[in-house]
Amino acid sequence: MDNKIDFRLLPELVLKNQADWIRFFKKNKKKIEVSDLKIQSFHHRISNRTDCLACGNCCRSLGPRITDKDVERLSKVLRMKSVDFIQTYLKIDEDGDMVFKSIPCPFLGVDNYCSVYESRPKACREYPHTDRKKFYQLYMLSVKNAETCPIVYEVMEEIKLM
Ligand code: SF4
Ligand code: SF4
Repeated sequence: MDNKIDFRLLPELVLKNQADWIRFFKKNKKKIEVSDLKIQSFHHRISNRTDCLACGNCCRSLGPRITDKDVERLSKVLRMKSVDFIQTYLKIDEDGDMVFKSIPCPFLGVDNYCSVYESRPKACREYPHTDRKKFYQLYMLSVKNAETCPIVYEVMEEIKLM
């Protein structure tokens, strides 16, 4: 696998392209609304040839929202009491959500492997959301996510050509 886009270049690339993406969205809302399958095919093609282990940018720079179920699952696998897991790893953010106390994620290794991969939070499993149903609802969030994730950047570029 050979990543086409270096994640370090994303903020600059997004700055150059986001006006086009937003313009496309405003002009083509209806088309985007009925294009989930097409957008999912972009996502699968691009993510299949992307090596996340050569990137790790999401785990290094974003904080996933942690649910009660995530706490239950992760504390079990780490053989900790939920209350100890919460005290050790989590805090409440300004929106009232549970998130990791530290960024980069405490479970990210120097080799970009996730040490709790099989039990990782739901938000980590769903990221970067470009294969979600009703993608049009996440379009503007994806403009933002493209600053972090090369997969999102490439999907947005493909959508623009639909
Ligand atoms: S739990 Fe794993 S997948 Fe989620 S942010 Fe941490 S290292 Fe990344
Ligand atoms: S999901 Fe995106 S940001 Fe995260 S490691 Fe993979 S390519 Fe990088």
